[in-house]
Amino acid sequence: MQQSKMFSPIDLHMHSLASDGTMTPHDLVQRVHDSGVQVMALTDHDNTAGLVEAGLKAAELGIQLIPGVEVSSEWETQGIHIVGLFVDPENRVLQEGLARIMAFRDWRATEISRLLDQVGIPGAEEGARAMAGSRMVGRSHFCRWLVRQGHCADASEAFGKYLGRGCKAYVPSDWIPMTEAVQWINSAGGSAIVAHPGRYKLSATRLRHLLTAFREAGGAGLEVCSGSQAAGDREHLGRLAKELNMLGSLGSDFHGPDVGHAAIGQLLPLPDGVEPVWARAGIHFH
Ligand code: AMP
Ligand code: MN
Ligand code: MN
Ligand code: MN
Repeated sequence: MQQSKMFSPIDLHMHSLASDGTMTPHDLVQRVHDSGVQVMALTDHDNTAGLVEAGLKAAELGIQLIPGVEVSSEWETQGIHIVGLFVDPENRVLQEGLARIMAFRDWRATEISRLLDQVGIPGAEEGARAMAGSRMVGRSHFCRWLVRQGHCADASEAFGKYLGRGCKAYVPSDWIPMTEAVQWINSAGGSAIVAHPGRYKLSATRLRHLLTAFREAGGAGLEVCSGSQAAGDREHLGRLAKELNMLGSLGSDFHGPDVGHAAIGQLLPLPDGVEPVWARAGIHFH
């Protein structure tokens, strides 16, 4: 039965070395091809620097690449990630907005490092930046450095002890309002999608409130199916999408073969009756 098949030829959420993924855009697109996925979106956190390289490889392999980005934003003090799909990476409003977030990330990296230093872990900023290369620096890079240096056994300890909300090296993040993220994406001709709605641990009422505010701000849809989501989320989110007249998207949130459990294309199809966001590009398979 198609409904239970855990593979989708479309995967619209993944990361490369341009943010906190571990593969170059080139190698990521090769892996997408090898896994049998035909339509992908590269959605690096807060920047689009990987899209050119990914586009070249996608054209070579016959993969359809949808240009994307995952914007870090905030709604009522809750961090919310907004995926922008079909964005024009040349758009000025979008790029000026993303530059603001990248500047905040640079400042925050220094702060995280200062807090780690206070608990006896020096040199973290340098270490995390070395892991990040020249591009976006985020908590994942601090996490990998902490594990590599032997300060933590694994990622869950690094987030549980130092990097997670309320922990020793947590810097309350002053992300841009969700409504602004939607405006940037819309300015760039994109469709704004609430990323992994199940991961925010909101009550059903609050989730509905979030989605309603998002819709009113011009948001298009939500990820109805995401990598390693809880049982029941797909049905719940599919019902909400239909009820609130929102589009559905699918994305694994793949970060690399050794990062977490998400695999490229390992997704259930959208539930019946949910209108797919990719229909706007004339892509018609489910
Ligand atoms: P940042 O955007 O820099 O605040 O970092 C958020 C990123 O950290 C997410 O996109 C994930 O890739 C990663 N992350 C968040 N929580 C965890 C966790 N508990 N374990 C491993 N990685 C995590
Ligand atoms: Mn990430
Ligand atoms: Mn995310
Ligand atoms: Mn992501």
